[in-house]
Amino acid sequence: MNKKIKLNNGLEMPQLGLGVYQIPEGQATYDAVSLALRLGYRHIDTAHAYQNEKSVGQAINDSGIERNDIWVTSKLWPTEYADPTAIDRMLKRLGLEHIDLVLLHQQVGNVDAGWKMLEKAYLDGKVKAIGISNFDGPRLTKIFDSAKIKPQIIQVEMHPYQQQKDLKAYLAPYRTVMEAWYPLGHGDKVLLEEPLFAELGEKYGKSAAQIILRWHLQEGIVIFPRSTSEVHLAENLDVYDFELEPSELTEIEAMDKNKAYFELPYEEQVQR
Ligand code: NAD
Repeated sequence: MNKKIKLNNGLEMPQLGLGVYQIPEGQATYDAVSLALRLGYRHIDTAHAYQNEKSVGQAINDSGIERNDIWVTSKLWPTEYADPTAIDRMLKRLGLEHIDLVLLHQQVGNVDAGWKMLEKAYLDGKVKAIGISNFDGPRLTKIFDSAKIKPQIIQVEMHPYQQQKDLKAYLAPYRTVMEAWYPLGHGDKVLLEEPLFAELGEKYGKSAAQIILRWHLQEGIVIFPRSTSEVHLAENLDVYDFELEPSELTEIEAMDKNKAYFELPYEEQVQR
């Protein structure tokens, strides 16, 4: 449980966590994060756009767990990239003194100003690691070419139907760690009911979701599947007592169809 992965700045983070996208602010988020921490999760992925940072921070502060033992990620929305107060406001919403990882959530807006702000927050010690989410094509290469501090993390849609192989190859020289959003395909039944996962599940005594999560971990990917149910939260953490064989990893690799469940927002949608 809580196996760590090393970033290109030497820092280590728990490879598996809880994502809180679409969990409403208030009691629901507070309860989900509190329960996850009780079960042993030590990594929470939120964002300003999810509007639940306040309850994430409250659950962490009330947990009695050492702050340094919990990894907290949040994300800046493009409308904040040129606002020099954005990080301090994020810290205030979370009620925390530092954030472990802050990402630029989308590749639109004033990315140059946003990245400079993250570099400054990193050098000031307010943020322990910095990265990007949903960048591709020329905007991805531009940030890697121009950044003084290269992104330590990139978070993108990733699951057996969308394996991001080109991105993986591009990032290798930078040793930028990849994080998968929609690690379970957002719960898509077609993915979860693939016969291969049923077969492997039978062999290892695991569910389809556990097979998929284990595959991500063995690929060196950081994951934070979302759930509010105790059964699923516990199940998603219980993926460290078996290992997929190389031939099984190859079979899952062959499922890639470059399929995105979610179309990234255009400039005008983000600026609203
Ligand atoms: P997911 O792939 O984690 O799937 C969640 C769905 O799967 C939910 O419906 C849940 O009930 C179900 N589920 C969870 N555990 C299960 C299990 N063991 N068996 C069967 N079903 C199970 O999708 P997600 O929550 O949308 O994404 C995960 C996290 O990724 C988010 O919470 C968020 O933190 C992050 N995210 C980031 C971005 C981005 O733009 N950076 C976009 C989307 C999500």
